[in-house]
Amino acid sequence: MERYGIKDYDELLQRGRDDPEWFWDELARELEWFQPYKKVLKWDPPHAEWFVEGKFNIVHNALDRHVGSWRKNKVAYIWEGELGQVKKLTYHDLYRKVNQMANALRGLGVGRGDRVAIYLPMILELPIAMLACAKIGAVHSVVFSGFWAKAFRERANDAQVKVAITVDGFYRRGKVIPLKENVDQVLDDIPSLEKLIVVRHAECPVEMKTGRDLWWDDVTQGQETVSPTEVMDAEDPLFILYTSGTTGKPKGVLHVHGGYAVGIYTTLKLVFDLKDEDIWWCAADIGWITGHSYIVYAPLLMGATSVMYEGAPDYPEADRLWQIIEEYGVNVFYTAPTTIRLFMKYGEKWPQKHDLTSLRILGSVGEPINPEAWIWYHKHIGNRQCPIMDTWWQTETGMHLITPLPITSLKPGSTVKPFPTIQADVVDDEGKSVREGGGHLVIKTPWPAMFRTLYQDPERYVDAYWSKFPRMYLSGDVARVDEEGYFWIQGREDDVLNVAGHRISTAEVESALVSYDSVAEAAVVGKPDPVKGEEICSFIILKEDFKPSPRMKHHLREHVRQEIGPVASPACVNFVKDLPKTRSGKIMRRVIKAKVKGDDVGDISTLANPEAVDELDNAV
Ligand code: ATP
Ligand code: MG
Repeated sequence: MERYGIKDYDELLQRGRDDPEWFWDELARELEWFQPYKKVLKWDPPHAEWFVEGKFNIVHNALDRHVGSWRKNKVAYIWEGELGQVKKLTYHDLYRKVNQMANALRGLGVGRGDRVAIYLPMILELPIAMLACAKIGAVHSVVFSGFWAKAFRERANDAQVKVAITVDGFYRRGKVIPLKENVDQVLDDIPSLEKLIVVRHAECPVEMKTGRDLWWDDVTQGQETVSPTEVMDAEDPLFILYTSGTTGKPKGVLHVHGGYAVGIYTTLKLVFDLKDEDIWWCAADIGWITGHSYIVYAPLLMGATSVMYEGAPDYPEADRLWQIIEEYGVNVFYTAPTTIRLFMKYGEKWPQKHDLTSLRILGSVGEPINPEAWIWYHKHIGNRQCPIMDTWWQTETGMHLITPLPITSLKPGSTVKPFPTIQADVVDDEGKSVREGGGHLVIKTPWPAMFRTLYQDPERYVDAYWSKFPRMYLSGDVARVDEEGYFWIQGREDDVLNVAGHRISTAEVESALVSYDSVAEAAVVGKPDPVKGEEICSFIILKEDFKPSPRMKHHLREHVRQEIGPVASPACVNFVKDLPKTRSGKIMRRVIKAKVKGDDVGDISTLANPEAVDELDNAV
């Protein structure tokens, strides 16, 4: 901003909207290109090409160039296992391990454009495998290790993978999950698969099929620690990642080397103001886009030091996360609302046991954060001093799109404003901007880390995202913009309630419920009603030390009436111990709604806790 004489953030936003190519060109120059691009953007809606004809490889920027700099011996990852073991990898260590794996993959005949499925938990071999693929121009498709083998099979078949990488087993809440044994059940149903590489981690017994299964140690041992980095086109595919599946069948979102790198590098740098001396911890799973962008690629592009943790956040006790922050002096911490609500339920006595003063900035992603949870996070984790970056984005967007910066004023529950150059808007069914109430959240201009297509399904790319309104990306979320231009995400299109002609957001009602003293978590869905269209049905998890009662039901209804208005007051209040959630921790309202209506629950393969569905039955 100084260089260009830009005096404040609003002026930067304006300048970015007027001339996006200027902005992205400026940032792209901070990365290294094998051959400079001829043009920043070619936009032929709904298809964008960024950094046209540039030659690039994300791994050259994430690793190779650091090894030739003072960062060579800087720690890239501090890894902590669930059992407490610690490993540290410097950029040089990581570089050599990636090169050995890259050579091993080449030796197995994997090359440019070939797909590799990676089915690994949060161990260091996961980023190593991803980077090795990218280095040789192969396309990785990471499948979250908490999914069942059937979900793995579907994704591996959709991506037609040649090689898969998995683990003998891993730890979750002190138990060993035998991943290799699980995946064995489906391997014969993946016809394209030639080899399976197995990491030894939990040392649990496995059966290795001769000719197909290979140990990671065996394939990497003796490999050279240098390996050429493939010169890719900026638009060449980097990875396929299937969405969380909150709303239905997962989509194979495809991202590319060049624009993706520039977008995530820029957002991590500006949104989290990451400095070379900082310790960064994005406590997501690499199996989700948050982990791809902000545990693997962006921190490495910046040459940062990241914490990576294998296990459950509340194992063995409810202060594991706070203990890790204290132990490594984490400066910037990024997590999801579901985690914050979990810790609100346990109470502030747990973070109070730890020195969290190293924290400078906090972040949130994945769902709307209830103002109550925001305030708790601010007060008890951020010591009332850390700004909270509530970042709105999606698997499809690759990078943060609507987000505060540490220099912007915050409002609890708002994701603030579109990132520089991003033209987000809220529109009605005709595609016209609306300010009263809410509407469809759309993006009107391309951004570098945008997905390029849905793998094997280019038509669905156009139909699902670009056909409702011409030249607008349909996010599938509902939002509202206030008089100061701040965005408030209200939930998913499919979840929005319609009570007596009023469109009411799930996020708003749930936040009102969560702001009540005894409530830890709440989900609301619409139940068909002959008169009102829909009535609101709520499901409540109470904080520890509180018991359900008819009086509490009454108080909760009254509370929502006071907070939002009579129309939003839930017609029914059900107390439950658990809510159905995706494996990334999001409430699956679709399943609750089906139960309330007495419908079939449909595909629940991406559900983390099937038991919660039975509990709903009892409650209903
Ligand atoms: P699927 O598309 O398969 O239903 P999904 O949308 O849950 O799954 P993701 O791409 O992981 O898969 O999640 C993106 C969604 O998460 C957004 O569309 C939005 O609903 C929600 N989200 C992410 N960040 C925020 C945020 N800061 N505030 C509110 N909602 C958010
Ligand atoms: Mg989605």
